[in-house]
Amino acid sequence: MKKIVISLSLLLALLCCVGVAGANVELALKGKKAQLISEVYQYDGVVYLAIDDVLPALGLRGYWDSVAHCYKIRTPMGRATFFPGGRYLRIGDRFLPIRHPCRFIDGKLRVSQDFVEETLSRLVVGSIYFRNLDPARAIAVANDNSDDIYGAYSFLVRSDRERRSTRLRAVAIDPAHGGDDSGTVGIDNLKEKTVVLAVARKLEKRLKMRLGIPVYLSRNDDYSLDLRQHLACADHDDVDALVQLHAQASLSGDVHGVHLYVRSSSGTLSGRGRTDPSLILALSVSEALRDAGFDVVEVAPAHLVTTGKGNLPTVVIEMGYLTNSDDAAVLGSDNGQQRMANAIFSGLEAFAKASRKTGETN
Ligand SMILES: [Zn+2]
Repeated sequence: MKKIVISLSLLLALLCCVGVAGANVELALKGKKAQLISEVYQYDGVVYLAIDDVLPALGLRGYWDSVAHCYKIRTPMGRATFFPGGRYLRIGDRFLPIRHPCRFIDGKLRVSQDFVEETLSRLVVGSIYFRNLDPARAIAVANDNSDDIYGAYSFLVRSDRERRSTRLRAVAIDPAHGGDDSGTVGIDNLKEKTVVLAVARKLEKRLKMRLGIPVYLSRNDDYSLDLRQHLACADHDDVDALVQLHAQASLSGDVHGVHLYVRSSSGTLSGRGRTDPSLILALSVSEALRDAGFDVVEVAPAHLVTTGKGNLPTVVIEMGYLTNSDDAAVLGSDNGQQRMANAIFSGLEAFAKASRKTGETN
């Protein structure tokens, strides 16, 4: 009994306010009966729920894999895996971004509201109903950062300021399409071939200015190339990364966001692990784009886009949808194109550091 009293007072000391009762979330698949979840935590202003409370409410099951140190969920789309502190949920060969990492709080693995609404919602059939009944009284918890070291890709986001990148010797950039081939055409006749060339030129300039390395463009003006010519820019001995730039179109004006693709010729992403250089490149660029405020939908194997063969680190960046007004506003403006180019540049820098680290530890 004494022990209980002590730990209770310790808890009171840690928590900014008490209000355990009253902090409730209603959660369900839309059309199903909502479950009431009473343990609602707030961490840095974000609502967190225990994964063990969330999954049953959505008709899902999962378990903690104590050997791999990750959490696994059985879903209609296959088994999904994520790590405490990680910024991706992996399902098959796809990586879905996690905005606020899952973390252990008060002895339980807890996931954020956006994890439920944005990430889990893509793993269930139908949509998710989430309602915080009493946001003001959610429990505030003192900072707890003990578990971030298990983040699956934390080595990609760790800052390493002293050691400037010297690893990238040269970069090849392929602005897709050109000439007669406009690529996709979106709002206000915005053409893919124009957008990708503009971003490629800005990225080229930034690489040259910041790193002083050679940059090879597949085309530097509006003319058409065949596939071999598009990839010829990577055919230099010093090229350490190839960036292929595209933009998309959709029948729905609502569809938006960035997709990143890596070479799929060697099979699926599964099993290739974090040492696959193209995957490290794609995840680094994805991270940088998200840090810059871009909405990254996924990192996935390229089935439709040609990435060429070989093991040169290559990423295809579908920079957004020219048919979506927000994406088109960004990609059609000088300022937006510069932001995109800057983010890709940061991703390339992070990739150089990450591959040096993997190179050192191997
Ligand atoms: Zn394209």
